Amino acid sequence: MEDGILKHYVGIDVGGTNVKFGMFSSEGELEKKWAIKTDSGDEGRRMWRQISDSVRKNVSANRLAGIGIGIPGPVLENGFVEVCVNLGLHNFNPVAILRENFPAVRVSAANDANMAALGEQWKGSGRGFKTLGMITLGTGVGGGIILDGKIVYGANGLSGEFGHIQFNPDETENCTCGGRGCINQIASATGIARYAKKMLRNDPGNSALRAVKNLNAKDVIDAAKRGDVLAESTLRFCMDYLAKGIAAISYVVDPEVFVIGGGVSNAGDYLIRMIQKCYDPYITLSKKKAKVIKASLGNDAGIFGAARLAMQEEEEDEGREH
Ligand SMILES: [Zn+2]
Repeated sequence: MEDGILKHYVGIDVGGTNVKFGMFSSEGELEKKWAIKTDSGDEGRRMWRQISDSVRKNVSANRLAGIGIGIPGPVLENGFVEVCVNLGLHNFNPVAILRENFPAVRVSAANDANMAALGEQWKGSGRGFKTLGMITLGTGVGGGIILDGKIVYGANGLSGEFGHIQFNPDETENCTCGGRGCINQIASATGIARYAKKMLRNDPGNSALRAVKNLNAKDVIDAAKRGDVLAESTLRFCMDYLAKGIAAISYVVDPEVFVIGGGVSNAGDYLIRMIQKCYDPYITLSKKKAKVIKASLGNDAGIFGAARLAMQEEEEDEGREH
């Protein structure tokens, strides 16, 4: 690439429904964002073609310096994905595929929640912290660890798959992963609703939740905020379970902050305070505790992180050249 030409970096976040794109300047300004429908048929061939076409259409080729792509499943550092359940795809490498279509461009890939963690650390509420743990509370529980500004991939792509830490040997139902007693089964939106239903069956106490049809996590959180005792103790149980897992991360990598994202985090300060309160007593070896804070980039965290990863690859390459 010639000097003096403004460079663009594209962050891509592949989800089960949409593929989101963001075009960023080298200063990290989000200049444009767009999305296309996810079509993972024909073993993903259509999707890769559509993604490549969409990048070509939206970003001028002579300015494109890097592409980062987040995938909803375990991703190795070289880009290899063994299985992506959400997309129904096996044994593929988005880095290799996109490099074929963009031979002059740096391409990097990571798990989508790891990308979100990097995004929050770069431009979101984790800004200014070098070491951070991100927990996404949505339909499932995901996460990512950033150490010294970099995604921790791990050996098998498991790093940050925090939701599948198994704490409860007495769990009788299976998690989506096939395991039992996962944090995911208690602290995800699905888990909160499931646990509330269990409480309603086992606890004879009054609760506004008894009148709610198709109970979901938001119903539980809203009722808890209004002082419903059963809802409050349900939520506290779920967040305590989560906090135990967060504390386990602290005893391994000791992040400065934990950033809470995902749909459940829209419950706001009430929930963040509750998690902090549950977390603190588990940290027994230090008076100073990591701060629990709310994510700020929402659904854009993934594209921010993906663009940042593409930039980091370039910085590293340039570091090696000089
Ligand atoms: Zn699991």
